[in-house]
Amino acid sequence: MNGTIDPSTLRITDMRFADIDGAPKRCTLIKLYTNQGLVGYGEVRDASSRTYAAMLKSRILGENPCNVEKIFRRIKQFGGDSRQAGGVCGIEVALWDLAGKAWGVPVWQLLGGKFRDRIRIYCDTDSEGGGRDMGKALKERMAQGYTFLKMDLGIELLTDVPGALSAPLGFLEKMREYKKTVFSTPHGSIDPRAMRGEAYDLFNTAHPFTGIHITEKGLDYLEQYMADCRAVTGYEIPIAIDHLGHIPLEDCIKLAKRLEKFNLAWMEDPVPWQMTNQYVRLANATTVPVGTGEDMYLKESFRPLLESGALAVIHPDVLSAGGILETKKIGDMAEECGVQMSIHMAESPIACMAAVHVAAATRNFMALEVHSVDVPWWADLVVPRLEIRDGYIAVPDKPGLGIDGLNEELIAEKLHGDFPVAWESTEQWDKEWANDRQWS
Ligand SMILES: [Mg+2]
Repeated sequence: MNGTIDPSTLRITDMRFADIDGAPKRCTLIKLYTNQGLVGYGEVRDASSRTYAAMLKSRILGENPCNVEKIFRRIKQFGGDSRQAGGVCGIEVALWDLAGKAWGVPVWQLLGGKFRDRIRIYCDTDSEGGGRDMGKALKERMAQGYTFLKMDLGIELLTDVPGALSAPLGFLEKMREYKKTVFSTPHGSIDPRAMRGEAYDLFNTAHPFTGIHITEKGLDYLEQYMADCRAVTGYEIPIAIDHLGHIPLEDCIKLAKRLEKFNLAWMEDPVPWQMTNQYVRLANATTVPVGTGEDMYLKESFRPLLESGALAVIHPDVLSAGGILETKKIGDMAEECGVQMSIHMAESPIACMAAVHVAAATRNFMALEVHSVDVPWWADLVVPRLEIRDGYIAVPDKPGLGIDGLNEELIAEKLHGDFPVAWESTEQWDKEWANDRQWS
């Protein structure tokens, strides 16, 4: 126990935010303040909104942050799928940080102890050009020490290949037009304009409803791309693939069959996670391991898919799944179903450390994503700097998340234009109220 802190009388007194940009996404950092000077760090999911957390402030003020489960069960009704869960999860992370600091133990210890001392990292890798270029980019990651790889492989690569895709005439032209305007900005799919009007409708058409199909020529192209890539990397290192594009299940099956020989770690989010039956059909049709999870909130969402037997791997994001403890529970449920857990992470080092504690304390964990290895200042957002050594992050022994402090100067430098002041008053949320009871 931290000598100057009395955990039993600890109370939450305030919650404030700093929104940074370019990490590479927008990250909303959270500070939870207490009556004893202790501050807990949390974070809303990448490219989300601080409002999801701010609206919960009045509901947690005056509570003892060490009662993590009690507070989580009160606020969990305000979480939704994907980014909409960001507020609930971000607060939950900050509660664990406070509880660990108050009692003087690392979060992994509060979760039941650890299975490992260092956490295997993988980084999603982008590349221009063909399969050999992607192979070279991945090979560079291997030279940096990474022991697990992920890349994109999907219809993005085919948009300029004549005869590779078919779709209701005009659909692909529209997509190309928005690619050149909205999606060519540094923010790409998280440019606010992508969430409005026709661009939203177009890019949020779910896989079964786009009418896009990959032709045999397109399949040949993607197969060759993967072959060229493997020719450079070799076959010993696992490679997962992501962003197939919004293609129907039947095309996922065709593509998966072409890719079986390349020894993939998993195929990620081939269709929306809500479509359990389609996952079952896919898994029954191919030997490529199938995974999903980064947009799923709570173990209730994971249960049907895990029990269906369709998944080989889940990849929850701690900031969407329900926070630290819920992600551990999801991992444990996956273990019972014979499914491996990786963790998705595209946020700041705060979220990364939250994931490190879950990864340490969950037996069937495989690899943790870090989306920011090409952002030179990302690791300096926290003190001490977050070190990735030879593709691993060491599990810290310090209390809470293991973060001594935030690099306030750097945060001030990287603030999002819409939120030019860090940690300003959130008093306007103190009185937010509704009758939250979910039954009568
Ligand atoms: Mg993904």
